Amino acid sequence: MSTSRFRFPGVTMPPAARALREEVREFLAEERASGGFEPMADCWAAGFSAEFSRKLGQRGWLGMTWPKQYGGHERSFLERYVVTEEMLAAGAPVMAHWIADRQSGTQMLRHACEEVKAAALPRMARGETFCAIGMSEPNTGSDLASVSTRAERVEGGWQVNGRKIWSTGAHGEGCDYMIALVRTAPADPKERHQGLSQLIIDLKAPGVTVRGIEDIGGQLHFNETLFEDVFVPDSHLLGEAGKGWSLVVGELALERSGPERFLSSFIALREAMEVLSRNPDDRTREVLGHLVAQIKTLRRMSLGIAGLLQEGRSPETEAALVKDIATRFERELIEQLRIVLPDEVLLDSSGVLPRLVREAVLRVPSSTLRGGTNEVLKGMIVRQLGLR
Ligand SMILES: Cc1cc2nc3c(=O)[nH]c(=O)nc-3n(C[C@H](O)[C@H](O)[C@H](O)COP(=O)(O)OP(=O)(O)OC[C@H]3O[C@@H](n4cnc5c(N)ncnc54)[C@H](O)[C@@H]3O)c2cc1C
Repeated sequence: MSTSRFRFPGVTMPPAARALREEVREFLAEERASGGFEPMADCWAAGFSAEFSRKLGQRGWLGMTWPKQYGGHERSFLERYVVTEEMLAAGAPVMAHWIADRQSGTQMLRHACEEVKAAALPRMARGETFCAIGMSEPNTGSDLASVSTRAERVEGGWQVNGRKIWSTGAHGEGCDYMIALVRTAPADPKERHQGLSQLIIDLKAPGVTVRGIEDIGGQLHFNETLFEDVFVPDSHLLGEAGKGWSLVVGELALERSGPERFLSSFIALREAMEVLSRNPDDRTREVLGHLVAQIKTLRRMSLGIAGLLQEGRSPETEAALVKDIATRFERELIEQLRIVLPDEVLLDSSGVLPRLVREAVLRVPSSTLRGGTNEVLKGMIVRQLGLR
């Protein structure tokens, strides 16, 4: 079996990356020391702070790869990678802007009309407005082509009815937009991927109701979002009506490829190192060596994807492969930490490390579901290998 159908090119970080990394680390250290944030596990999905996002916007660390014309900074995907991995490694509260910066903004840049790009992107790059993902529905998850939220043609735009579920962050302060996959033409059983479109829905528009859903840790994380006769202007259609499937596939490549897929619990490992490296026994050395080696390999693969994005490619299957391996690794990381950390550390109710472990234990089960389940990703991988 050959794996040559997957490309993970070696990348060389641009010279500016080193100075940028130092700058980001310094900022994070100062923020943490001054009480600007408390590190948390799964910070990109659980750490909502509009204020922190605005600070990143002021530093030019949001919309980094977008054109200056739209408030971006025309920096490389590799420089953006440096910022995102440092944020994750520090457990910083980056959730508010994460979706806009990672995928929705880029999706708008690629497919929205001039008017929308000029209005929305500069605000996203300043950390003033955020986005939610509108793909899943109560009866639609893995099989996205079965979405039943529908948009009907009306004068000047579309009228949307239906509901989305698990919309992460849609309730958050400043979360103004959802890019929703909707049916704009009746489903043809032979051409299921036709007749779907992506619409940018204003979450403050009349007829939109956002209902919070608590996650297992009791945190308001995601939502059910209902649409009742919601008017969406023509200008908010992405690309061409009925051709939304290829757009959503491109969006998923952005969603699945980043370092958050293996660094969600890294902050717990980092803090654990302080304890475990003092007097490690052979078992602990073995576990830590194994975890660090896996992180290094995953980082190498994930950086390769950033390199492909920099070349203007849409690496869907490479992203699926990294997400599958990375999210299984995330589960292993936290299981191994629970085994090697001494009980007195884990049971210390006041310590930062046990809190991080507890957070990670509760949140890690979602890693192999959100953004597409591992079974579905494996389906994509075997198709790419020509085995199905
Ligand atoms: C924390 C979290 C945040 C999320 N945030 C968002 C969000 O912001 N926006 C959004 O739109 N969605 C979001 N989701 C939803 C997520 O994308 C879906 O949960 C996921 O795609 C799976 O869909 P489902 O839950 O309907 O499961 P189903 O699709 O019903 O799958 C059930 C089981 O069947 C398996 N299965 C299904 N099809 C196949 C197949 N073809 N081959 C093999 N096995 C298969 C699956 O692997 C799974 O084990 C989020 C989910 C979580 C957990």
